[in-house]
Amino acid sequence: MPSLSNISGFPRIGPERELKAATERFWRGEASQDELEQVGRDIRRANWTFMKESGIDLIPSNDFSYYDQVLDTIALAGAVPARYEHPGGQVGLNTYFAMARGLQDEGVDVTAMEMTKWFDTNYHYLVPELGPHTEFALSSEKIFAEHAEARALGIETVPVLVGPVSLLLLGKSADGVAEDFDRLSLLDRLLPVYEEVLARLGASNVEWVQLDEPVLVQDRSPADLEAFGTAYERLGAAPKRPKIVVKTYFDHVGEAYPVLRGLPVEGLGLDFHRGEHNHQLIHDLGGLEGKTLFAGVVDGRNVWINDLTASLDLLEHLGAHADDLVVSTSCSLQHSPIDLDAETDLDPEIGSWMAFARQKVGEIAFLATGLNEGREAIAGELEANAGALEGRRTSSRTQNPAVRERLAALTDADSRRASKFPERRKAQQAKLGLPLLPTTTIGSYPQTAEIRQARTHLRQGRLGLEEYAGKMRSEVERVIRFQEDLGYDVLVHGEPERNDMVQYFAEQMDGYVFTQNAWVQSYGSRYVRPPVIYGDVLRPQAMTAEWAIYAQSLTEKPVKGMLTGPVTMLMWSFVRDDQPRSETCKQLALAIRDEVADLEAAGIAIIQVDEPAIREGLPLRRDRWEEYLDWAVFCFRVATSGVDDTTQIQTHLCYSDFGDIMAAIHAMDADVLLVEASRSRMELLSDFRREGYLQEVGPGVYDIHSPRVPSAEEMAEQLRLAIEVLEPHQIWVNPDCGLKTRGWPEVESSLRNMVEAARLVRSELA
Ligand code: GLN
Ligand code: ZN
Repeated sequence: MPSLSNISGFPRIGPERELKAATERFWRGEASQDELEQVGRDIRRANWTFMKESGIDLIPSNDFSYYDQVLDTIALAGAVPARYEHPGGQVGLNTYFAMARGLQDEGVDVTAMEMTKWFDTNYHYLVPELGPHTEFALSSEKIFAEHAEARALGIETVPVLVGPVSLLLLGKSADGVAEDFDRLSLLDRLLPVYEEVLARLGASNVEWVQLDEPVLVQDRSPADLEAFGTAYERLGAAPKRPKIVVKTYFDHVGEAYPVLRGLPVEGLGLDFHRGEHNHQLIHDLGGLEGKTLFAGVVDGRNVWINDLTASLDLLEHLGAHADDLVVSTSCSLQHSPIDLDAETDLDPEIGSWMAFARQKVGEIAFLATGLNEGREAIAGELEANAGALEGRRTSSRTQNPAVRERLAALTDADSRRASKFPERRKAQQAKLGLPLLPTTTIGSYPQTAEIRQARTHLRQGRLGLEEYAGKMRSEVERVIRFQEDLGYDVLVHGEPERNDMVQYFAEQMDGYVFTQNAWVQSYGSRYVRPPVIYGDVLRPQAMTAEWAIYAQSLTEKPVKGMLTGPVTMLMWSFVRDDQPRSETCKQLALAIRDEVADLEAAGIAIIQVDEPAIREGLPLRRDRWEEYLDWAVFCFRVATSGVDDTTQIQTHLCYSDFGDIMAAIHAMDADVLLVEASRSRMELLSDFRREGYLQEVGPGVYDIHSPRVPSAEEMAEQLRLAIEVLEPHQIWVNPDCGLKTRGWPEVESSLRNMVEAARLVRSELA
């Protein structure tokens, strides 16, 4: 049997971000559902046709989504939470978007479902809400309709669906349901929906269906694995069903491998890119007799070309361990930008090292041909690929000897402040003289239409650099005066000059390139365009000092220097894969360290280094947490340890579950930690207490995700909660996060109330 080629999923946002424009028009009432659906059909047709013409055998369908594939599966299974008052039957687009985004209309006011990170990617999915009363019924035709749509175009597809075990385990207890509710107890009720799907696809003569079960790459209990085995015994026994491939991705399957091997299904998908250990499992525990191995050899999550020769070696090797082999992507390409050919401004040398989704499809097709017809059949491609790889390996552009020398000389001492926190605290107190419960903000102030327009005009050449800088300076002045008027203790400059907290710095560092069009879906209609780290990172000159000096010149109060930390710079970029990520992160750490030094030398007394993404990098399997946290914390400390005791280092973390990385947060050894906390009503603080956290903490008292203005009393109440757990002298008063997405009127009222809350509680303490 020749090896077939397969793609696990293709980006669905459209090459020109057509889906974003169309959905947002639909939401604003400017486009009809028909118009939106036409855009969806056009994107699907273009994707299918492209894959077909590229020679892909097993082409996905139902990988398209108007918002999120987990939400699609919730709709498919009819698991609509009660507050949306779904009467049963088909889940329409309005209910679907209400679940995704909430709905506020005359008479209706329902919140959205919770959104959270899809494993360790920067994609977010909607979290199923489950409880003992959850009922399931097949409630969406989408999967069938899209398959039929492709068939009508003459293209046979593999319908893709989130599997039942992942759907349940990715969920959470619905409101009012005990936290420890056993979600897998719902399998018996859920499986009939999947059986019905299989029966209907079988009746349409669908050959393969892909069930995604990525939860198997996380540490799973024996009970989970048993439930998984039982579920698939049952699905396997469904009559007249298509062949099933169970796909896993983002890591190896570990203890799930023996279970997967024994399932009565025809195919198993493994990630050989991040889950290299899968290879070992096959060796140690035996291959896949009687099954087809979908070997994920092309990285679906990054922008670099595949090493085709190495992949062929691996595929040939794997071929001996399975009945059949399908050449596939490591995961859905939804995490890749769409088309490198659209990057007309990209440096051609660096571009030759890169592959986006369309190019990755090409790589899969070449690999299948090479495997089936021999390497001679793709000799030209192999040669070009080897040339590009060799070019990358030997290019002087990826290596900067000075950076490497400095990195080699880096020692543990570079990651330690001169004194321990209690001494630093005294020195900082003497210098800063701050009151009890000092008030501050996280950094950004509203990015108004005028600010964004000025930036657009600068880019279009309609505004000169000096004029632009002038506009930004007056915005900084406005923000400083505003904070002085309200009586803030520690001020910020407001970050008007920054397009994005990563890109702004990346643009001033060597080793980064930028794309025009490399958008990737983050959630719904929000897409990001991460910068690309291709070479050694160097900060040739000060990046922010001028702004900080200017802001400080306007006031007697301390103005914080504001930087993005090395781990967050790494997490929110596409990172070179020719050296360990930890090495790249250390280079970033040295760059930030230099900036910190420049700020200190310029007389800035407080420097905030943001690390909102530090938890995101946590490996999916616990046995690798320690290694990651060690280097991540080391990098933060390298960035922040070069200063005198009198210089106060603050950091900011947000929107992650910090409970289980408390020790690492402590080890970051920041003098002040400003952390998002308002939505959890300060629950987080007991973790600090338990950890014996000594340093100062500013638990956010104002939820910046809502235009709602919290009252002074409400925020005072949050502070009182904090004082029950931490020492009053440890506590700062601040919002949850930056204010750039908010409008001025609500910011003004909220921040006024926040100072009032601080005053109130100070007087209670006096
Ligand atoms: N300093 C940044 C801001 O205020 C932090 C943003 C973030 O945490 N994502 O915008
Ligand atoms: Zn934040």
